[in-house]
Amino acid sequence: MRLDKLLSNSGVGTRKEVKALLKKKHVKVNDLIIKDGSKHINPEKDIIKVNEEIVYYQKYIYLMLHKPSGCISATVDKQEKTVIDLLGKELQHYKPFPVGRLDKDTEGLLLLTNDGELAHQLTSPKKDIEKVYYAKIKGRVTAEDVKAFEEGIILDDGYQAKSAQLRIIAQDEISEIEVTVTEGKFHQVKRMFEAIDKKVIYLKRIRMGNIILDDRLKRGTWRELSESEKEYCL
Ligand code: URA
Repeated sequence: MRLDKLLSNSGVGTRKEVKALLKKKHVKVNDLIIKDGSKHINPEKDIIKVNEEIVYYQKYIYLMLHKPSGCISATVDKQEKTVIDLLGKELQHYKPFPVGRLDKDTEGLLLLTNDGELAHQLTSPKKDIEKVYYAKIKGRVTAEDVKAFEEGIILDDGYQAKSAQLRIIAQDEISEIEVTVTEGKFHQVKRMFEAIDKKVIYLKRIRMGNIILDDRLKRGTWRELSESEKEYCL
């Protein structure tokens, strides 16, 4: 791959910044100063240094974002703020995208990556990956509702959702519920509650498979997945 592409893909800087670094002789390949960004590099073999520091080539990134309400799970949008806008500029050249979607008003765990294969593995309906949500529901959620979810709620379009689990945390005018689903249909959780005449007034994803939202992450912030989290995903 081209040296300039490798450098910008590794987070060294934008294409323009990389060009300047090359011009100023700050880049070495196998201890030789290289000014030509089009030089072909083998990331497995060649040792690249910028200002004498080795650059480790990273092709894929894996991030955990605590999505806040008010931004959409898309990469670009003319009007709305997207989850990608929450990442620093230095990450945007990796072209990350969200793994699955959360509604604009849903908060919580959203994985972002540029690894299409991983995204496919985690969102494939065949994999039955558990998604766990904390939800506030208007009205009392009852034992019958728990049973109905267990048996498979019929959605407004006639589709019978797969069995889902409700754990009642608090039961009052506003009930607090933990919902576990293995599907990711459009507005799934909200539509499941609508089907039993109940309204979701707050929704937050707290787990996806083995990946648990890190409670140290404030809304709108992100971190890279740890090695063990990545191992689970890959
Ligand atoms: N179910 C919903 O209704 N909305 C989400 O954002 C996620 C799951």
